[in-house]
Amino acid sequence: MKAMALSIPLIIIILIMRAISVLIVPIGVVLLLVGAFYLIYQVYSFIYFNSQKFKKLKNSIQEYTDKCNELNRHIEELKCSYLDVKSYDYGESNFKDNSNYNFKRKEWDKNKKSQEIHNCSASVCKNASNQPFKYFNIKSNEESLERFESVLNNFLAAEQGKILLMAERDMVIDNISFSIPMIIMGFSKKKLIENLGFETIDFSNFHYPVYTFQYISPGGNSSNKCEITLELDNLEKFINYLSELVKFRGTIAGQRALMTSKLREKIKLRDSHMCKNCGLSTEKEPNLLLEIDHIIPLSKGGITSEDNLQTLCWKCNRSKGSKIMI
Ligand SMILES: [Zn+2]
Repeated sequence: MKAMALSIPLIIIILIMRAISVLIVPIGVVLLLVGAFYLIYQVYSFIYFNSQKFKKLKNSIQEYTDKCNELNRHIEELKCSYLDVKSYDYGESNFKDNSNYNFKRKEWDKNKKSQEIHNCSASVCKNASNQPFKYFNIKSNEESLERFESVLNNFLAAEQGKILLMAERDMVIDNISFSIPMIIMGFSKKKLIENLGFETIDFSNFHYPVYTFQYISPGGNSSNKCEITLELDNLEKFINYLSELVKFRGTIAGQRALMTSKLREKIKLRDSHMCKNCGLSTEKEPNLLLEIDHIIPLSKGGITSEDNLQTLCWKCNRSKGSKIMI
């Protein structure tokens, strides 16, 4: 009986080994086939992307890819707006440009991430986790308020722009999809987008400023850290907080309406989602990026009130700069 009990695991092992040996051949064949298919597909897609037919297709949508890429660059610029605030408010910046001839946008973005680190006592670090805005090293005056309002305005446009840009790009590709082999559409969408000349849309949120309150004990054995990212929600809350302080100081501009996402949508609705300058509207161009403009710019004493705001398409808004255009 004992010998029998011992041999059961042995039998199981033998059975498993047998099953494996039986399966090895089919698995090998499948792997070989997949490998061969992969190789053939790579050669095929290489030939396709270099063919005259593909180049012709690429040229036929050149106008649209250029338009998309232009919007993409505009969005990237909008994301940099916080860097301006920083250099104005503090006089120095940690921005390092490590670009070399092998320039990579990803590396560039890492450097763009704005991080303010404040070394503080343990109690400040703890308090800052409850009421971070109170401990920000930012002057609560009209100038700061205006700058942060324009940062929020730009960040909101950038976020909206990314979605519209992707929709526009997909629409362009959809329109030519009938002339693209199904296998390329299915397996190499990313490569296709790249080869058609579309710049990569960067969906990372690295551009949001981060404030860090940090305490390190003199011996270095204990440390606390509190981090707050000024993403859209926090930025809006921070602007409300600043505006209360400015109002409290009794300045005239303290009575202003604030640039909030609600106000932006209200203005767009009032203007029927149409650019007040060129007349383009989302009715004609569903993926049109609309921005909110101060008719009299903040820098020239204009305030954020409904009668000083208008809807402009991103192109008109950009060419306007700080001119007054009604
Ligand atoms: Zn326009």
